[in-house]
Amino acid sequence: MTTCLIPAWFWAATLGVLGLMVGSFLNVVIYRLPAGLSVVGRNSPSACPGCGHRIRAWENIPLLSWLALRGRCSGCKNPISARYPIVEATTALLFAGVGLRFASDPWAIPAFLLVAALAVALSGIDIDTYTLPDKLVAAAYLGGIPLLVLATVLGASDTSALVRAAVGLVGSALFHFVAWCVYPRGMGWGDVKLSGALGMYLAWLGWGPLVVGVFGSYVIGLMVALPVLVRRRSSVAEPVRGALVGSDGEHDADLDAAIADRGIPFGPSMFAGLVVAVAVGEALWAGYLRAVGLV
Ligand SMILES: [Zn+2]
Repeated sequence: MTTCLIPAWFWAATLGVLGLMVGSFLNVVIYRLPAGLSVVGRNSPSACPGCGHRIRAWENIPLLSWLALRGRCSGCKNPISARYPIVEATTALLFAGVGLRFASDPWAIPAFLLVAALAVALSGIDIDTYTLPDKLVAAAYLGGIPLLVLATVLGASDTSALVRAAVGLVGSALFHFVAWCVYPRGMGWGDVKLSGALGMYLAWLGWGPLVVGVFGSYVIGLMVALPVLVRRRSSVAEPVRGALVGSDGEHDADLDAAIADRGIPFGPSMFAGLVVAVAVGEALWAGYLRAVGLV
């Protein structure tokens, strides 16, 4: 193990602030990429779409401005979507978590910051559009492979981590491919493409995190899907529900219809499994082995 002089709290604080700024950019990616718009142009709206109020610099600070404005435009008091601060705060928390987790092996930080940013962008886009854009999935491989090699060569891991990562990539992709063949409604082809990159990251950490991450994504996916499936079943008895309830209910009915039509996006569950596995996968796996008497 390498000794690092930079304390964990410093990594967490610095990367948390970086995460706020990156999260602000990811809001743009989530909004613009599926629409086929350039993400490198103007990175924020310059005026309120409701009243045309020009957004000043202090009103454009990630998270803080939204809180200071209490989620409303300072001109017309129309609500500003909570999704912007949620994306920024989530990115900041994930970045700070990467800092805490890898403070003792900081060469691994760039690789895991990349996957944290992709987790936020891809989850947001998957929830919006039921797709995982190839550009971002490709970035997980084209960025993740060199960064994990860098982390291995310069950091605390030995080359066996790279062998594991290669096995994890192929193994996870094959596993999800079979799952997709067996139950194509449960996940999309984009999930299969993404699963190799996530398996690579998980196995780079160890076999325990790989198992916890893959298994965890299915557990989380089921926990998300079951209430929706139950609600959908009960809503069959009320085919006119959407016409009877108010505007919020109509939105729900639309969402139910979309879900019935297209399934439930699995990408966010895959990333949630990854987060759990990176944070506590090794400990969960060791605890499981002890519980079943294998160690
Ligand atoms: Zn306004």
